[in-house]
Amino acid sequence: MARSVLVTGGNRGIGLTIAKAFQDAGDKVAVTHRGSGAPEGLLGVRCDVTDPEQVAAAFDEVEAAHGRVEVLVANAGITDDGLLLRMGEEQFGRVLEANLTGSYRVAKRAASSMLRLRRGRMIFISSVVGLSGGAGQVNYAASKAGLVGMARSIARELGSRAITANVVAPGFVTTDMTDELSEDRKQEILGQIPLARFAATEEVAGTVRWLASDEAAYITGAVIPVDGGLGMGH
Ligand code: NDP
Repeated sequence: MARSVLVTGGNRGIGLTIAKAFQDAGDKVAVTHRGSGAPEGLLGVRCDVTDPEQVAAAFDEVEAAHGRVEVLVANAGITDDGLLLRMGEEQFGRVLEANLTGSYRVAKRAASSMLRLRRGRMIFISSVVGLSGGAGQVNYAASKAGLVGMARSIARELGSRAITANVVAPGFVTTDMTDELSEDRKQEILGQIPLARFAATEEVAGTVRWLASDEAAYITGAVIPVDGGLGMGH
């Protein structure tokens, strides 16, 4: 049966490829956006995950159209890099608010639907940097590491109801986010990746879709790297 799938930040980048992967598999897919609208064929709901009221309204809209959310992909995220000594409270908090607190908000709302369904899959998009750290990314790395503790706590709280919570930790993926890197920085990063290339968004989407499949029913609280070997050992 077609499941109700919600991908936050599914209007572009990795999220959009994830949304399309579920759609191609026959699921009913909704994506959040912050004003851009949704690409053809996907149900777009306006939602800034930093606003609890928008999160509530977005879920109501999705569930009126597609039924209770059974698969949640918490993908929306931002970077705002800077070295620790120059990182202001606002810069730190803004990234935590979008990446970590935003994920808590959508997970909490999704959990109430999944508990009623007595099944569900939550997948949080973290980053290799959450475990390895990244110079200039104290805020981003903290937010992405936080997702691991959150997902594992949810896995423990809701596992007995057939709800799983897992984390996907991509390395460098070709999207708008990585287009911002300078050519020198890109070359430096490539030198550290055993597979010597960035990932395509499809390579992250395939892992996410698999985690939501029957084949992955016994996997919960896991952190799956999709990083070309960059974070090996974590
Ligand atoms: P993009 O910058 O291409 O897209 C980010 C998405 O998040 C957009 O859809 C954006 O919406 C949405 N978003 C940002 N802030 C909010 C918010 N407050 N509320 C709702 N939506 C929001 O990023 P990527 O596709 O590259 O990244 C997707 C996820 O993958 C992120 O969590 C990122 O941290 C993670 N990641 C990315 C890597 C990479 O190399 N690209 C590597 C590892 C992890 P809008 O269009 O409205 O701006």
